[in-house]
Amino acid sequence: MNIHEYQAKALFEKYGVPVPAGTTAKSAAEFDTALAELPEGPTMVKSQIHAGGRGKGTFVDGYKGGVKFCPTKAEAKEVAGKMIDNTLVTIQTGPAGRKVQTIYFTVASDIKKEYYLAVLLDRATSYPVIVASTEGGMDIETVAHETPEKITKVFVDPAYGLADYQIRELIFSLGLDKTESKNAYKLIKKLYDCFWETDAAMIEVNPLITTPTGDVLALDAKVSFDSNALYRHPDIVALRDLNEEDSKEIEASKHDLAYIALDGNIACLVNGAGLAMSTMDIIKHFGGSPANFLDVGGGATKEKVIAAFKIILGDANVKGILVNIFGGIMDCNVIAEGIVDAVKEVGLELPLVVRLEGNNVVAGKKTLADSGLPIVSGTSMADAAQKIVNLVA
Ligand code: ADP
Ligand code: MG
Repeated sequence: MNIHEYQAKALFEKYGVPVPAGTTAKSAAEFDTALAELPEGPTMVKSQIHAGGRGKGTFVDGYKGGVKFCPTKAEAKEVAGKMIDNTLVTIQTGPAGRKVQTIYFTVASDIKKEYYLAVLLDRATSYPVIVASTEGGMDIETVAHETPEKITKVFVDPAYGLADYQIRELIFSLGLDKTESKNAYKLIKKLYDCFWETDAAMIEVNPLITTPTGDVLALDAKVSFDSNALYRHPDIVALRDLNEEDSKEIEASKHDLAYIALDGNIACLVNGAGLAMSTMDIIKHFGGSPANFLDVGGGATKEKVIAAFKIILGDANVKGILVNIFGGIMDCNVIAEGIVDAVKEVGLELPLVVRLEGNNVVAGKKTLADSGLPIVSGTSMADAAQKIVNLVA
């Protein structure tokens, strides 16, 4: 789950990570009240969307920049008027862009130098890793590719927590002076606490800055959380912004389905994440393109299968459906009944190929055959994938 920059900064403040003062507005009518909370002077106007690269982004009406510096509050108000309800396209949004529904006004800091700092999970070691670089404000993937020596990583053993020498190693790599080092030490410690205690998946501060007076501040904040841990953080769940999520993914999460929309045209309904991944692979292998990742789970009910089917059919890009079920715990007949009920309820104008194998497969196949519906049966994964690719073509 992702949150907005202004929400991440409120979380930072709670943990004692310094950020510039800021306020939000959800419409032009709220600009004056919001700005009244900030001191007169240089103000940043920042579009709030769940995507990075806002500063270099362009609005669909041609207006340039989703993050802007304004010398006065009066100018900030004018600039905010151009951004609110406008659609911002950045390298991370895709060509459709995202509608800006919240503006964040924040005090413009006096920047001495910009740095990069992030805490995330390293898949290879299964440890949290803190990444720091002197190349702040830049795309970190580019830095990693072109100048990897400018990136320092420390891996944190969760059994011991973040050690002082590790923080010193990070600070040393950034080349900070004495006052800056003292402030950065506190910031890194608190940022790691925030990561650890909120079950975050990633906290990225780009840029982290130093000021001429030696302060160290987080100017940007991109935070995402591990969805599997959200059940123990109701305060974080409350920060969810459904405007930023795919409507099909929202519907799927209500039914506890693991669903991710993709840009192909063959929908897949599969049980088990591994099988779902290999189903997408085999569709690609035979020249097709998957419209989604969908794992109904090991113990799906008929209702869940119906819900899954409806979500798939609600996607206008879908031109064919491949159901690939291996019944381990799952009873194939439950899936078959779910498919038949769903098709009877919502209709089926698209080719549907079903491959069932495993627990109670004979009953499952019989249910499909007796339904009288135009369902194509696949004898193996490869056979089913080839059939749906050919039908869609
Ligand atoms: P994004 O990464 O989405 O483009 P940022 O929040 O990083 O958005 O803003 C882009 C740039 O704007 C930053 O790299 C920084 O140079 C500048 N900036 C952002 N917030 C402030 C601020 N409060 N004071 C001064 N400059 C800022
Ligand atoms: Mg940034």
